[in-house]
Amino acid sequence: MDSLFGFKLSTAEVIPEKGKLAPILIYDRICFEKVPLEISIEDIRKYRGNICPGVVFSFRATQLAISQLWKDEIPERGDFEIISTCPFPCSQASFEFLTRAVTREGGKNFKIELPKGTDIKNITKDNFVFIIIRKSTGDSIKIRLREELFSERFFQLRKKKIEGRATPEEIKELKSIKQEFTHTFMNLPMDRLFESEKEDNLELNENINDNEAAYTLVNSQEDAIAYVAENEGEDIEVAATCPFHTE
Ligand SMILES: [Zn+2]
Repeated sequence: MDSLFGFKLSTAEVIPEKGKLAPILIYDRICFEKVPLEISIEDIRKYRGNICPGVVFSFRATQLAISQLWKDEIPERGDFEIISTCPFPCSQASFEFLTRAVTREGGKNFKIELPKGTDIKNITKDNFVFIIIRKSTGDSIKIRLREELFSERFFQLRKKKIEGRATPEEIKELKSIKQEFTHTFMNLPMDRLFESEKEDNLELNENINDNEAAYTLVNSQEDAIAYVAENEGEDIEVAATCPFHTE
């Protein structure tokens, strides 16, 4: 089905076209009427001020959730509940701009549940897991940014910088790792970016199950960068200063 917006309804793009992410189509209710909205990642830049890794993975996690929980339907903003393990304000801003889940109904549709021992200064690979729930059906999906995408070096450098122990060279290296994150998160196909499963564990994401190759193609951050380098299109301008909030 083609939409009133003039392009296909499904936001489950497998591979981002030419480095551009398809906008998310979503309804809101204004004076009791359903009003369609089209929100691009550039729109989030206007809200947040920049596009950093947190903005990108939250935008794409929302796309994945819509494709799995709503299929070809356009979701309504009020139908989202989100449980996030990620303490970054940029991730939260992205979910808020897309769904209003953070502020709607007094904030009861958005929760941050930090894994034990983590906070904004001490993050691990477990801080990139999101549960997105379609309230009207009770269906939910658990989405995890693939652990292979992170190098241990990133966490080491980030910690050093936060503790004021990083050298200028290390600060530069961290900045470039963060730029690579934004770039790879923008350009990787969905199944190489995320692992996902329905929260009740009954219905695993077919795409990912059917695609054994997805598990072997990205074994490391370097693999992901190499994949993107081979397949990328035009890139959009991304931020080097905000990512993961160590600045
Ligand atoms: Zn950020």
